[in-house]
Amino acid sequence: MKKMNYPMSRMHCGAITRAGGSCRQPAMKNGRCRLHGGKSLSGKAHGRYRTGKHTKEAIVLRNDLRELIQITKNLIQDISTY
Ligand SMILES: [Zn+2]
Repeated sequence: MKKMNYPMSRMHCGAITRAGGSCRQPAMKNGRCRLHGGKSLSGKAHGRYRTGKHTKEAIVLRNDLRELIQITKNLIQDISTY
């Protein structure tokens, strides 16, 4: 995101509006305007954050571990059939 001068080349929010178009408010740091989530906190900064059990990273880690365990189980089964 390259920040340029006001107003024509500025980054816009781009959220879909109820009227069907895209929002033309200037975007905040996270890419959305003040009305479409630009002010929302995420991760540990969010007030509802508790353990991090359901963060994107944690979910990916769990899926990867599950896959690794499955591969290992299959490998052990393959070895034990010989
Ligand atoms: Zn917006």
